[in-house]
Amino acid sequence: MQNPLIKYNEEEITLAHKINNLKKEAGSHSPSIFTFKQKLPELNIKIDACFLSNPYATDLFLNYFTKEIINTGKIRELLEFYPSQNQVISEILSSFLNVNYKNIFIGNGAIEIIQAVIHNFTKKKILINIPTFSSYYEFVKPGIEIIYNTLKKENNYQLELDKYFDLIKSEKPDTIVIINPNNPDGGYIESHDIRKILETVREVATVILDESFIHFAYENDNFDPISMADLVTEYPNLVLIKSMSKDFGIAGIRAGYAVMDEKRVKELLDIGFLWNSNGLAEYFFRLYTRADFAYHYNSVRIRYIMETIEFIEQLKKIKGIRVYPSRANFILIELPENIKSIDFVTALLLKHGIYVRTCEDKIGLDGEYIRLASRTSKENKIILESIKNLFK
Ligand SMILES: *Cc1c(COP(=O)(O)O)cnc(C)c1O
Repeated sequence: MQNPLIKYNEEEITLAHKINNLKKEAGSHSPSIFTFKQKLPELNIKIDACFLSNPYATDLFLNYFTKEIINTGKIRELLEFYPSQNQVISEILSSFLNVNYKNIFIGNGAIEIIQAVIHNFTKKKILINIPTFSSYYEFVKPGIEIIYNTLKKENNYQLELDKYFDLIKSEKPDTIVIINPNNPDGGYIESHDIRKILETVREVATVILDESFIHFAYENDNFDPISMADLVTEYPNLVLIKSMSKDFGIAGIRAGYAVMDEKRVKELLDIGFLWNSNGLAEYFFRLYTRADFAYHYNSVRIRYIMETIEFIEQLKKIKGIRVYPSRANFILIELPENIKSIDFVTALLLKHGIYVRTCEDKIGLDGEYIRLASRTSKENKIILESIKNLFK
């Protein structure tokens, strides 16, 4: 595959141009499958390996939802009435998370919390590791300085602690952002290192720790996820942010929460966010804390992790691409120098109906990259065969 565009017929070339334009219009977040279906109905998308969710978790949620809400007619209540207020939902999560409800803030997706936290608590200077999830720098208000800590390719984009601490000492940011595991590379910081960071950066006013992919990570053979949520009493500068979209496969219902110092929760609630949830999200949060759901969720979580590990092993065998280590449910892949990321993504979409994410817009990546989500094992097999086919 020199330039994948060479093999296209005329129809495909037109379509390739349209795909590229849609991508450009979408900015730093990829166009959704809905957008593609609406704007390019001639495109036959079979697998969405762009969005980063556990498909088995979505199935599990839908089973519960169908049985308890749809089949019982309770859906009417969820739609007709107001959902519970922010702090009422916090109370539901409190014992499950082992933190006081006053430390919990509910968001309409984690994205709302990122915006609220950065707009209200970042005063002068924010330190962001790149590559990263773009909202962390896009939501920074004018007048606030952004310092980037560029993670090194030679180091597989892992955070180097000593260098990081030196940078914090010299730049004195009031806010730092750590995503664990990181998006877009899946790099994971072990919990003892997170502890070390928290211990070292006590002077930093706001330490954002985004654990949106933590249910895919593990440090032992039982694949137990390790959350730092209950450390907020020990480290009052910690702001832990958690999206439920990816690991529970429910991005459409917009559910996220944060754990932070109670003064901060109060400060945010005083300016709004009263009914920022919705009936579906409230149902989900109640489910999340139930033992029966947790039991079933853990089994689909572990199944998915094991299949993802296998997927990564198979990807590593493909010659020509470089697979970065990941403890999330997606894989950062570096393409050979002569292949542009957008051409690869377009070829995979046009020839195989598989949608993956280009990383063209990701700052801090050196080279041509795609980010590939792990899907069901059946879909992963198709993805593997299709990528191999492109490299023939
Ligand atoms: C997707 C994502 C979010 C936003 O999640 P929502 O809950 O859907 O708003 C936040 N942080 C990271 C790192 C993400 O990848």
